[in-house]
Amino acid sequence: MKTRRNFIKLTALGSVAVLTSSCSTSEKELEEKTNASKKVVKPIVISTWNHGIAANEVSWKLLSKGGSSLDAVEAGVRVTESDPNNSSVGIGGLPDRDGFVTLDACIMNHENECGAVAFLQDIENPISVARKVMEDTQHVMLVGEGAKQFALEKGFKETNLLTEKSKKAWEKWKEHSNYQPTINSENHDTIGLLALDENGNLSGACTTSGMAYKLHGRVGDSPIIGAGLFVDNEVGAACATGMGEAVIRIAGSAIVVELMRNGMSPYEACKEAVNRVVKKHKDLTGLQVGFIALNNYGEHGGYSVYSGFNYAIHTKTQKEMIDTKFNRK
Ligand code: ASP
Repeated sequence: MKTRRNFIKLTALGSVAVLTSSCSTSEKELEEKTNASKKVVKPIVISTWNHGIAANEVSWKLLSKGGSSLDAVEAGVRVTESDPNNSSVGIGGLPDRDGFVTLDACIMNHENECGAVAFLQDIENPISVARKVMEDTQHVMLVGEGAKQFALEKGFKETNLLTEKSKKAWEKWKEHSNYQPTINSENHDTIGLLALDENGNLSGACTTSGMAYKLHGRVGDSPIIGAGLFVDNEVGAACATGMGEAVIRIAGSAIVVELMRNGMSPYEACKEAVNRVVKKHKDLTGLQVGFIALNNYGEHGGYSVYSGFNYAIHTKTQKEMIDTKFNRK
C-alpha cells in the first residue's frame, strides 16, 4: 500500500513530468525552490508579499531555537502590523471610505484551535487580540466594539492607527473617488504567514487593514477561518491575499488544504483554487487573489490570478522571495 508520503511524492513527480513536457525550465526551477517532492524541511516559514521578509526574520529567530509555530506566526506578523509605513496592515493601514482604520486578523494552531477579530479599531496588534480570543475565551471571533472592549480589558493600549501619511492618501482619494474601494493599492497587502516548527506543528496567522476605502463595516476574508487562513496539521496550511469577497466565495484557504489532503502539492492546490476564483467570476477586472500553502513536509507553493504576487521563504538554507505563477498577466 502506498504511504501518504509516497503518494505525495508520486503526485509531485507526476506533476513534474506534466510540467516539463508542456512548460519551460523555469517551472522546473520553481519545483526546486518550492521543495516539491524532497525530504521533510523544518522548521520553515513562508509569508505573503515583500513585507514577509522582515516578518519571517522574526519568526525564524523563534523557530530556529525550537520555538513553537504559534509563537512564531504571531511574532512575525506583529512586525508588519507595527510598521507605520505599511499601508495595508495594522498602524498606517489605509482607512475605510469614512476615514476609520478597521483591522481584521485571525490565527490558527496545529490543534485546530483558532481565534479572530474583525472590524477592530484603535488597537495596533489585532493578531495578539485574536490569540487571546483563542486562548482565553470559548469563542472564535469577536468584532467591532466588543473586540475593542475585550482587547482593552486584556491590557492592550488604545492607539491612533491613522497616520498622517494614510490620512493624506485618503483625503486625496476622496477628491476623485466616487467611493470606489481599491485593492492591491501598493501591490503589497495583507500578510498571511505560515510556519512549520521543529516538532512538526503547523500554525498560521493572517492580518490586514483590508481593502482601502471600503464601506464602513466591511469585513473581508482575512479574519475568516477557512477563507483567509486554514490549518490542518494532518495535511498543511494555506492563506490568501487579494479581493476578500472572491476568496470567501470559494472558501479559499480551506479548499487549498482539502486539495492537498487529496494528494495535490501546495503549488497545484493553490493553482486549482485560483482556477475556481477565475471560473466563478464573470468580471475579473481588478480581481487579484493569491494563495500560498505549506504542507506538513515543508513543501510550499503559491499561485495568483494576476502576475505580480510573491511570497517570502525562510529555512536553514533558503531565504528568498518567490514569484508565483499566475492565471493571467
Ligand atoms: N484580503 C484582504 C481583504 O479583502 C485584502 C488584501 O489582501 O489585499 O480585506
